[in-house]
Amino acid sequence: MQIAFIGLGNMGGPMAINLHKAGHSVKAFDLSQDALAKAKAEGLSVATSAQDAVQGAEAVVTMLPASQHVEGLFLGKGNLLASIAKGTLVIDSSTIAAATSQKVAKAAESLGIDFIDAPVSGGTGGAIAGTLTFMVGGSEAQLERARPLLEKMGANIFHAGSVGAGQTAKICNNMLLGILMIGTSEAIALGVANGLDPKVLSEIMRRSSGGNWALEKYNPFPGVHENAPASKGYAGGFGTDLMLKDLGLAQENAMATKASTPLGGLARALYAVHSMAGHGGEDFSSVIKMVQKKG
Ligand code: NAD
Repeated sequence: MQIAFIGLGNMGGPMAINLHKAGHSVKAFDLSQDALAKAKAEGLSVATSAQDAVQGAEAVVTMLPASQHVEGLFLGKGNLLASIAKGTLVIDSSTIAAATSQKVAKAAESLGIDFIDAPVSGGTGGAIAGTLTFMVGGSEAQLERARPLLEKMGANIFHAGSVGAGQTAKICNNMLLGILMIGTSEAIALGVANGLDPKVLSEIMRRSSGGNWALEKYNPFPGVHENAPASKGYAGGFGTDLMLKDLGLAQENAMATKASTPLGGLARALYAVHSMAGHGGEDFSSVIKMVQKKG
């Protein structure tokens, strides 16, 4: 299949490579020259613009930071939707506002283009291994159209509901993850302040009632998990500012629906303080620095 892939960052880069490895012809585009060079080194063909990438594409996959990037790309100045052929499938895997997914999907539908939201969970490790979880918003028929491609990038594919529902599922998950990472950080920092070995303590909690994904795969304390961002100077991974964006989406949604999410609100405030202290570009697990004893 001829696929246009737009957004080759920490997640999109490895996802595009997995489609290429599966035998698809991937034409990739990103605003960053570094990201394009990496894609080229992996054997992907690179486009000179988003418009160039979608020429002749049977499917388009996008993996961009936030709502404004997705809306700007498809409906903004460049009006990418106008360059996409009728009948094309567009899969947006970015985490954005459900309302933005619905707005772009409506414009796409009027042009005979199938647009679905398919945000992911599983981190950069899952993107590289092709084991992501996809949360799809769209019709059954659209999901079945997308499934062969999603299966090359992920291991779990869920139909959350109509367009936008994938985004709602995703912000519920990330609100929980944001809260869990702070709680996990506090517990480890407390143990370490009392002289416990972070590895031993993490293993005890992992196998006890406090066990969670951070303790399984993404420990915030350096050196506990060799491949976690914490052991690589909090580089790569899932940026604090992206977590802040997701917690903001959850709070906007909670206000609109009058849902009560007090811990989600507190988590958003704490990641905002952490970002303002200069950690916005680091992985979100660096939030442990807020609760660690200095010196
Ligand atoms: P990233 O910042 O590493 O990558 C985003 C890429 O998009 C960058 O390379 C940027 O240059 C490119 N870009 C921005 N605007 C563009 C445009 N108009 N045209 C072409 N390229 C453009 O972000 P990421 O970590 O890959 O995350 C992408 C999305 O996936 C976000 O919505 C994030 O919330 C979500 N997500 C991330 C993770 C994670 O662990 N990193 C996990 C699940 C979901």
